Amino acid sequence: MPTDIEIARAATLQPVGAIAEQAGIPAEALHPYGKFIAKIDTDAIPGFHDKPDGKLILVTAISPTPAGEGKTTTTVGLGDGLTRIGKKTMIALREPSLGPSFGMKGGAAGGGYAQVVPMEQINLHFTGDFHAITSAHNLLAAMVDNHVYWGNGLGFDTRTITWRRVLDMNDRALRSIVSSLGGNGNGFPREDGFDITVASEVMAIFCLARDSADLEERLGRIVVGRTRDKRLITAADLKATGAMSVLLKDALMPNLVQTLEGTPAFVHGGPFANIAHGCNSVIATRAALKLGDYVVTEAGFGADLGAEKFFDIKCREAGLKPAVAVVVATVRALKMHGGVAKDALGQENLKALEAGLSNLTRHVGNIRKFGVPPIVAINHFATDTAAEHELIRNYCRNHLGVEAVICRHWAQGGAGAEELAHKVAALADEGEADFAPLYPDAMPLREKLETVAREIYGAAGISLDAKLAARFADLEAAGFGELPICVAKTQYSFSADPTLRGAPSGHIVPLRELRLSAGAGFVVAICGDIMTMPGLPREPAAERIHIDAQGHIEGLF
Ligand code: ADP
Ligand code: MG
Repeated sequence: MPTDIEIARAATLQPVGAIAEQAGIPAEALHPYGKFIAKIDTDAIPGFHDKPDGKLILVTAISPTPAGEGKTTTTVGLGDGLTRIGKKTMIALREPSLGPSFGMKGGAAGGGYAQVVPMEQINLHFTGDFHAITSAHNLLAAMVDNHVYWGNGLGFDTRTITWRRVLDMNDRALRSIVSSLGGNGNGFPREDGFDITVASEVMAIFCLARDSADLEERLGRIVVGRTRDKRLITAADLKATGAMSVLLKDALMPNLVQTLEGTPAFVHGGPFANIAHGCNSVIATRAALKLGDYVVTEAGFGADLGAEKFFDIKCREAGLKPAVAVVVATVRALKMHGGVAKDALGQENLKALEAGLSNLTRHVGNIRKFGVPPIVAINHFATDTAAEHELIRNYCRNHLGVEAVICRHWAQGGAGAEELAHKVAALADEGEADFAPLYPDAMPLREKLETVAREIYGAAGISLDAKLAARFADLEAAGFGELPICVAKTQYSFSADPTLRGAPSGHIVPLRELRLSAGAGFVVAICGDIMTMPGLPREPAAERIHIDAQGHIEGLF
């Protein structure tokens, strides 16, 4: 099997105009970025906003393991499978972050014969959206310090400035810095730091905004710091939101690309899945629903974090009604959840597989709590055996009342996902879904977190100190009690301990910190060590990346 980049490079791409036409997008609505990428101005599509919505299909997964699950690969494969069986299909994915590409090898545009292309551009600068988001974020940072420099009319207590700076690079040296050193002309020195762009609240806002007016309103609500008497200071107080919106204006249009088999795909926005909600922009998802009868989209991490946030944050805020959730699992990962070490995953082990199904069972049950019918996709790996597949299928049918479909899209493209496509389309068409978020807006913030911990993680409850209990009360008193909770915890376990695989229960989820993302519209509950500026490994992929004699990029994927 050739590598992902070899497959992507060998593909013959259609001009983006042809892909747009297939999606029902007229040439007037197209802003091409080269031959194979275009931004879409949906206002230029006649009758766009009155079109009926297609059916929304979420691709999520079991708790991730180092064995790999393949959510993006399955999102693309299912999209191609649906196209092959004659369904008008759109795909909606996150944009990859550039920083990690130079650390660990691996892109984020799918894999094998299920990829979106042109993969090098998608994984690198693409249409510059992340640049625009970085600029908008840093403009606000510059305006904060400039405001203090010119007399601090709003009365910032500079020790409480929470608005850091961002860039799209893994650079641990910038995690924690002192800014404004070097003399009076450089402002007032203070502790500061950088996050990676995908961790910016502007990124989360960009991905939750319905349109440019909503974007500007949300930007205005960003809290950047406090006064000495604890009054919150916002981006609107600094009069920063007009200029920030200007920087984001073009970026807000969704990016159209294609899969290896020519299914149209929006790749737009890419917030972190821990301190943010981890899915592509609402604007792209809603546009895809107007253009396709079936829209396949992905949420980051396992279903306990990714799907939960997709439902409780994105669908709640955008009024989306998902029709089906596909839970991706692999034989290898299930065996790991059943206690097998990574180097022994190639051998058949039915006992461990059966034990590991506890993880899948919990996720399937969780999806049902949102009123969304689940279906299991087993992403086929070369080391799988027929007996292992049979065991999963029988277990799912007999114990979970859910269909498990073996998919071979990684090796075969859309043809390998046709069975899944038929079953997903049928499930969506049955109209069984009756989506509702897990908890109502009116539930107090602390109870929201306790509800997620109990219902989704199988925990006995949460632990918190008196300071955090008071912080909950402060947030309620300041009028943020109606917001949903965004949990940042390890994605590797239902518990807060990444080494506990399977389906641990009765544990306590330790709350360490609460952060307000007032513009994005959620309260982040940090339950573990969360890194918002990654570092590079000892031997970064960057050391091997170069351009060969034919002008091809080598070593990136
Ligand atoms: P996720 O979205 O869950 O993070 P991806 O779809 O990006 O996962 O896949 C991660 C990696 O695993 C990719 O490099 C992809 O090529 C590889 N992969 C996915 N499915 C398979 C498979 N069935 N066999 C071998 N490798 C696979
Ligand atoms: Mg992915």
